Amino acid sequence: MTSYKIIDHTYDAVVVGAGGSGLRATMGIAESGLKTACITKVFPTRSHTVAAQGGIAASLGNNSPDHWTWHMYDTVKGSDWLGDQDAIEYLCREAPQAVYELEHAGMPFSRNEDGTIYQRPFGGHMQNMGEGPPVQRTAAAADRTGHAMLHALYQQSLKYDADFFVEYFALDLIMEDGACRGVIALCMEDGSIHRFRAHQTVLATGGYGRVYFSATSAHTCTGDGNAMVLRAGLPLQDMEFVQFHPTGIYGAGVLITEGARGEGGYLTNSEGERFMERYAPSAKDLASRDVVSRSMAMEMREGRGVGKNGDHIFLHLDHIDPKVLHERLPGITETGKVFAGVDLTRQPLPVTPTVHYNMGGIPTNFHGEVVRLKDGNPDSVVPGLFAVGEAACVSVHGANRLGSNSLIDLVVFGRATGLRIKDIQKPSTPHNPLPKGSEELALTRLDKFRHASGGSPTAQIRLEMQQTMQKHCAVFRDTELLTEGVGKIAQTYKRMTDVSVKDRSLIWNTDLVETLELDNLIGQAVVTMNSAANRTESRGAHMHEDFPERNDAEWMKHTITTFTGWGGEGGATAIDYRPVHDYTLTDDVDYIKPKKRVY
Ligand SMILES: Cc1cc2nc3c(=O)[nH]c(=O)nc-3n(C[C@H](O)[C@H](O)[C@H](O)COP(=O)(O)OP(=O)(O)OC[C@H]3O[C@@H](n4cnc5c(N)ncnc54)[C@H](O)[C@@H]3O)c2cc1C
Repeated sequence: MTSYKIIDHTYDAVVVGAGGSGLRATMGIAESGLKTACITKVFPTRSHTVAAQGGIAASLGNNSPDHWTWHMYDTVKGSDWLGDQDAIEYLCREAPQAVYELEHAGMPFSRNEDGTIYQRPFGGHMQNMGEGPPVQRTAAAADRTGHAMLHALYQQSLKYDADFFVEYFALDLIMEDGACRGVIALCMEDGSIHRFRAHQTVLATGGYGRVYFSATSAHTCTGDGNAMVLRAGLPLQDMEFVQFHPTGIYGAGVLITEGARGEGGYLTNSEGERFMERYAPSAKDLASRDVVSRSMAMEMREGRGVGKNGDHIFLHLDHIDPKVLHERLPGITETGKVFAGVDLTRQPLPVTPTVHYNMGGIPTNFHGEVVRLKDGNPDSVVPGLFAVGEAACVSVHGANRLGSNSLIDLVVFGRATGLRIKDIQKPSTPHNPLPKGSEELALTRLDKFRHASGGSPTAQIRLEMQQTMQKHCAVFRDTELLTEGVGKIAQTYKRMTDVSVKDRSLIWNTDLVETLELDNLIGQAVVTMNSAANRTESRGAHMHEDFPERNDAEWMKHTITTFTGWGGEGGATAIDYRPVHDYTLTDDVDYIKPKKRVY
């Protein structure tokens, strides 16, 4: 192996990721006087959070009556009772304060006449403990909410004494005796290797939507933190639950926010029928995402899809006052023109369910601490390791996330992580020496891929993985599809031993970085497929046609899956379970008992 020079850094805490969750965590940790670093592979304001459109949920009650317990009820129901109710209580209670904090940080929210923050309806959000009518709970900055939020957070974060390492690619965690001691990163600009020794490491690396062929997420959403956790021998949780957003633009995969339906948009099939009235008589087009996506897929399957191949659905906004479109949905008006060639003030948009969000991820408690099953304790904390944002599985979203509940998750749990670290970590605590060979895993892997000279280009293996996931692990699943999928994805994984990287340099080597990302993705693909094949029930986003009902007696539990191997070697998964938290945080609200989920 080539020998690499290592540059050492020592911090109280290191945050990997500078999206909404990473920045909020960095701010909180730095504010408490701890020496803090934030490492990010893209410039902070290019993180995927910038692309969020529709808004951020909180029971402010500005546009209709609301209460945090109503928000909690909807989130539990949305999760199909797989969410942990203590964490959901925390999220919904803290949400209004978190939105006001963003407002005070300068986030330019859309406003009502009276100056309060404007809120729009979103799928699955109702009044009166699910009874309805729909509530206006989603605070928005037109249809560019993530953009406004990320810029506000980035500006604020510069106020604190945190060091930013921008365009540094984190490779692997440094683990010792089951505890995290820091992280190894590659500076992509000059190829230097950096070893960050830290008492606390926070993974805020986002989702892994790019395991699928058609996804609304950025190409950088490769779940690198999730993969680092797998390589550290720790499990990921509930990876079978992948959200398909009902309205990705057909062909392009670009998102049209649920806010479009929140502002009055509706879906039709080839017969011009507003079919959601049949599937969700009460919430209609504003039922939760899994329900709407499934209904659309069902319409197409039964021959009522639109277009030559009957493979998409129409979204209508042409009945809405152009002034409203201009004010509330300017971004998607433009997106419709650019990506579908449609003037949506006059024509319907062609849309289809598209991969959008990963409910699964790194299991944590509501303080952001990573947890594992150890010696019979399902909530055993992994010392020195935190996870927040889409990378984490707290779990507040359970089997299906409600729209606008991710942005609020980022700031509420980003803040909670800062508070926890402040509690447990004294500034300037001396560091023990790192274990010998702390860089070994990261550098062996880097070096192997850098010199990989097989016959399979990275892009080819990636495409095979994405097509397999898209075909075998999508909106509808069954035993045959999944069993075949498990075999196919294992074959594709093995192809990593034959991967080819052409660029051997270390100066901005995108060939190498994309290969490292693919290696990260493909482990998660294997875990997702195997976890899906294992769950013989239907719940939230996991619709198993041979087991069409939810089965609480057997399956109201979190899947936790480990994976051994990288680079095409090994590849075995092992599945275990953690119980769902069937209790709330305080006595202010009772445990919400499972019911059949209808909208
Ligand atoms: C198009 C779109 C629209 C959406 N709209 C909404 C919405 O309206 N409301 C809502 O609630 N949710 C929405 N979501 C979901 C939500 O935006 C995301 O779940 C959320 O922004 C994820 O934030 P994050 O902080 O977890 O990670 P991200 O914003 O994805 O950031 C990840 C960070 O990790 C860093 N990183 C990753 N890997 C590495 C590595 N190896 N080394 C160093 N750094 C690394 C990246 O540089 C980046 O800074 C939307 C999602 C998409 C894709």
